[in-house]
Amino acid sequence: MRARYLVRKIETCAACDGQGIVVNADWQRINEENYAWMEAHTGGIFTDEACADWQNRIKATWPYSDPPLEEEPCCECEGDGEIEIWIPLVQALQESGVFAEIETQSRRALAHQAEIEDEIKAATQQRQSGPTTW
Ligand SMILES: [Zn+2]
Repeated sequence: MRARYLVRKIETCAACDGQGIVVNADWQRINEENYAWMEAHTGGIFTDEACADWQNRIKATWPYSDPPLEEEPCCECEGDGEIEIWIPLVQALQESGVFAEIETQSRRALAHQAEIEDEIKAATQQRQSGPTTW
């Protein structure tokens, strides 16, 4: 029988950092440009007049007649905030650190075994070199 073993991997979506929504790319660009303009022209003091100027500036630079929503569902995770994939069991064990932990435990066990063998060897030598009591 030939078989492959897979496990389900669920990870946080990197595109939206698990939020499930992203800022529309055009909105982000326009907001950044206009925010920089606003700061430069108002010294960071956003008065009503400055905000009105900002609104007019956005309208003047806006590429759409009917603007999209500022935030939209993430297309990478379809709004779930998580990505679900199937991966080989071996890959899951590697990624989860199980193999590394087994290796660490094996090294500790071998080191402990070597210590015990050294103690036995030392005790045996001591017994062999010590005075005979019979
Ligand atoms: Zn996402």
